[in-house]
Amino acid sequence: MELYFDKLYIDGEFVNSHSKETYNVFSSIDEEFYAQIPMGSPDDVTGAVSAARRAFIDWSSRPIESRLEYLDRIREAIEKRSDEISEVITHEVGMPIGLSKKIQCGLALTDISETIQAARNVNLEERVGNSLIVREPIGVVGAITPWNYPLHQITAKLAPALAAGCCIVVKPASQAPISAIILAEIVNQIGLPPGVFNLIFGPGSEVGEEIVKSEDVDMISFTGSTNAGRAIGALAAKTVKRVTLELGGKSANIILDDADLDRAIGSALNACFLNSGQTCSALSRLLVPEKLVGEIEGRILAEIKKFVVGNPFEKGTRIGPLVSQVQQERVRRYIFSGIDDGAKLVLGGAEQPEGLSKGFYVKPTVFSKVTREMKIAQEEIFGPVLSILEYEDDEEAVELANETIYGLSGGVWSQDFDRALGLARKIRTGQVDINGGSFNPKAPFGGYKQSGSGRELGKYGLEEYFEIKAIQT
Ligand code: NAD
Repeated sequence: MELYFDKLYIDGEFVNSHSKETYNVFSSIDEEFYAQIPMGSPDDVTGAVSAARRAFIDWSSRPIESRLEYLDRIREAIEKRSDEISEVITHEVGMPIGLSKKIQCGLALTDISETIQAARNVNLEERVGNSLIVREPIGVVGAITPWNYPLHQITAKLAPALAAGCCIVVKPASQAPISAIILAEIVNQIGLPPGVFNLIFGPGSEVGEEIVKSEDVDMISFTGSTNAGRAIGALAAKTVKRVTLELGGKSANIILDDADLDRAIGSALNACFLNSGQTCSALSRLLVPEKLVGEIEGRILAEIKKFVVGNPFEKGTRIGPLVSQVQQERVRRYIFSGIDDGAKLVLGGAEQPEGLSKGFYVKPTVFSKVTREMKIAQEEIFGPVLSILEYEDDEEAVELANETIYGLSGGVWSQDFDRALGLARKIRTGQVDINGGSFNPKAPFGGYKQSGSGRELGKYGLEEYFEIKAIQT
């Protein structure tokens, strides 16, 4: 199948771009041409931002319930097209189709439903002494998003922005753009007022930066790499706009000496290898007590048999390919660096997996004897590579967990809940899962340190899209 798209979505219409440039998307599975999208230009940004500014006057003054009704219709329409959405994302990103339906599409649906619920309970006005405190929408939001969970990362911004009364200009990553185009079709079909949602594509360095620089954009909500986040934060400072950043991670999963290893090991592999490791909150470092390393390596070698690598449309596949050749090569370079630095290759490696001559696959790879200064202990790989580090006692485990520039997520395994909770409190990250505690779409998501600033999802995510005014009486 080959898909061709030639329009941006601005001011309630599908329009031609001012640029002649296009971008080709390749299927992660067979490396063949899959889709073409138009690139936007700085002039298109100006058009989209002006449309959003105009729409803001009416949209922000509507009763919140009217805005939530539109959001609910968007949610319903996404649900109706969920098969199609999951399929395109599986082609683009490589996530196995069953997981794609459940996670890629499922999260987009819960982003919206949980935001609707949070918005129904938000305190838009309250009294503090002689002041009336009023929450007002911040204005026009520029949403810049990555490719790894492409629809979820848009809906995690779109839902709270629209609920709060903001209008939005979305610039997704070019590598996985099609679910965003489907979203524009949905927005158009349900009759969302023109200018409330605008979709534009283009290189981050040109189109993305133009959105960040714009004086008519009041807030940037960015998800992506820490490098791009730094550049965006610096550029946005020139117009003193609000910036929320959801960036990279190198999260630690601490196995304590009393952990239930029957549960912990399968969960640890899943928490690292989900979506072929292309997950910002992946638990990509496994911290284990020195005396248990041998046993844990053995258990990993047994457990890995369940992680079948293959075509993500085939039943039974647990690990599909990566998004692109660029990403595949980047991950392989990290595998070579682990070998060169003297880590022990427990399984996997940089070669193409057997029986898969085409596709951007990388074998699930586990290194042990990783030491704290190695690149594979410090840098985000964004592929299926797990680094095992050893520690002596709980204190050293926490020290290691906190020893990267990142602070996004983490895990602790112990049969003593209070001991695990004690460690969870000491880990400097925005999320920690105890004994594989499951993802909660109502809970705030975001990073400490260089994993970002601000929170997404549920009521905490909604808060980011308000200005707060105090009126003294
Ligand atoms: P990326 O930073 O290269 O690109 C993300 C988006 O930003 C794209 O739309 C890109 O075009 C745009 N962009 C890049 N440079 C820009 C600039 N200077 N100005 C404006 N826009 C710019 O990231 P990616 O490769 O698409 O995604 C992978 C990264 O995203 C990983 O590092 C991952 O950890 C991170 N991520 C973080 C979260 C989170 O919630 N913390 C979630 C998903 C992904």
